[in-house]
This record gives sequence, structure tokens and C-alpha cells, in this order.
Amino acid sequence: MDQKEIIRIEGLTKRFSGKNGDVVALEGIDLSINQGEIFGIIGLSGAGKSTLVRCMNLLERPTEGRVFVDGQELSALTEKQLRQARRGIGMIFQQFNLLMQSTAIENICFPLLLSGVNRREAEKRALELLEIVGLSDRRNAYPAQLSGGQKQRIAIAGVLAMRPQCIVLDEATAMLDPIGRSEVISTIERLNRDEGITVVLITHHMNEAEHADRVIVMNEGRVAMDGAPREVFAQVEKLKSIGLTVPDTVELLYELRGAGCDLPLTAITVDECADAIARCFGKSAKEDN
Ligand code: ADP
Repeated sequence: MDQKEIIRIEGLTKRFSGKNGDVVALEGIDLSINQGEIFGIIGLSGAGKSTLVRCMNLLERPTEGRVFVDGQELSALTEKQLRQARRGIGMIFQQFNLLMQSTAIENICFPLLLSGVNRREAEKRALELLEIVGLSDRRNAYPAQLSGGQKQRIAIAGVLAMRPQCIVLDEATAMLDPIGRSEVISTIERLNRDEGITVVLITHHMNEAEHADRVIVMNEGRVAMDGAPREVFAQVEKLKSIGLTVPDTVELLYELRGAGCDLPLTAITVDECADAIARCFGKSAKEDN
């Protein structure tokens, strides 16, 4: 199938100069992200994940290399064109970035009103977005009256108001409890499936990275691994040597393999893992008879 590239990065290097010399945050990154993909980025703290996504809309200027969004090279754009191009990539961060004195619906209307949309149109769009993130009934609530997961879903709706093609979540679930995390993850999966939005998901929760179509592992400013989650997570020893963990399911299969069970490391969902274990024990039980 012909897949359209939405972001392409060529030979990207980013160095920061500091008092104690240069820090190489990214080195020689080549990458492309396809439209409609959920693209996961994992890696230890300091691996370069945030710098990489900040280069995707030139919030951070590359030291070397080029970044293309929808075929346009960002550094070739004028400031005005760049502002326009940035609207195509919505960023969502750990902290919710909501106006605390404004209701949920006002928070979503705000970027629309700023961009010149009239109030009636803005409210209409905000109501649609509240529906999309499943929070229509909380439209008049203030952020303080919402749970963490609900706040983050309002922040996502606010970003969607500008109709981005791609949303980038930079550790956007890091401050949430498990319920909030699963609310946010299922919201972005729905957005991806129903609205065709490309999602770039930085996470340190391996179970969230399972939801990606493709995952890269960043290590010391480079892409250390790249593939479908089940291919990447099956390389348990390599991930551990980088200092990362694997999803609990894979860890369990890995331990059982170590104990002599013939199990695949590619069964990453709980259902697949349970199935593989049942089959393994079912088979050995039969062999015992
Ligand atoms: P991650 O998101 O994976 O935690 P970052 O992209 O934030 O990693 O950081 C990568 C490296 O670049 C780290 O060593 C960090 O200290 C350094 N770095 C990031 N931003 C700056 C900055 N503005 N100035 C100096 N060093 C920075």
C-alpha cells in the first residue's frame, strides 16, 4: 500500500552549547513518519526524545540536517509560513496547559477565537470536539473540577481545534493515574482510527507503546531500535542493556522461557500472552499423559 509520509527527518543533529562544552542531544537521525500512523518513541530520560519532537516543528532548530512536514522543508519557510505549518502539528505536554479560570468549553474555544474564528463557530466546533473526546457533559466544568485524564482530554480537544494532521504527545500521560492514562490512550486511539490523525507518542510506559503501529527506541541521541512493537519488545536483552524495561507480558514470557517453557516473546497483549501460556501448558500436559 502506498503510504504518505507526513514527517521526514534527514541527517538531524542537535547540539546544545553550555558552560561545560557541547551536549549532543541528537546525532544523525533519519526518520520518516507515515500519515495515519501511531508512532511511539521510547527511551531513557535524556535520550533525546523531546528534542527530536521539538525539531519536528522547529521549536528547536537543528544544528545539522533537514526536517520536512508534508513535503515542505521547514527551515526554508518564512516565519509566517512556519507559523502556518506548525498548526499542522499539535503538541500536548505533561502539564495540561489549561486556563484555570475558564471552563472546559472556553478552553477549547480560546485558540479558535485567537485565530480569528467568530464565537458562534468556535462554540460549535468546541462542542463537536467535546463529543469526540467524550466530555460533552463536562463542558461547563472548570479544570479544578476535572480529573487528570479529563483535563488532558480537554487539552487534546484544544489542540484538535486547529485541525492538525498530527498530534505529538510528549509524556502526556506521565502525571496521570492508571485510569487517566487509559482514558487518554483510548481517546488518541479513537482519534487515530476515526479521524485519521497521525499520533506521535513519547512514553515511558511500555504498555502504552504497545498501542503504536511502529516504535523507535532512542538511546544517547540515536535511534537504537525501530520496528513494530512486537518486534522491538521481543528483543528483551537489547532493551535491558539500554536500561529499559519491557511490557509486563513480555517480561513474564521471557522469565518462563528462561525456566524452559517454549513461548514466543511476540505475544504482547494480555490476551495473546494468556493464550500462548495456555497453549504451552496444554501441550505439555498432553505430552505428560
Ligand atoms: P528526553 O526527552 O529523552 O528526556 P531531551 O531531548 O530532553 O531528552 O534531552 C536530550 C539531551 O539534551 C539531554 O542531555 C539534555 O540535558 C540536553 N538538552 C535538552 N535541551 C537542552 C537545552 N535547552 N540546553 C542544553 N541541553 C539540553
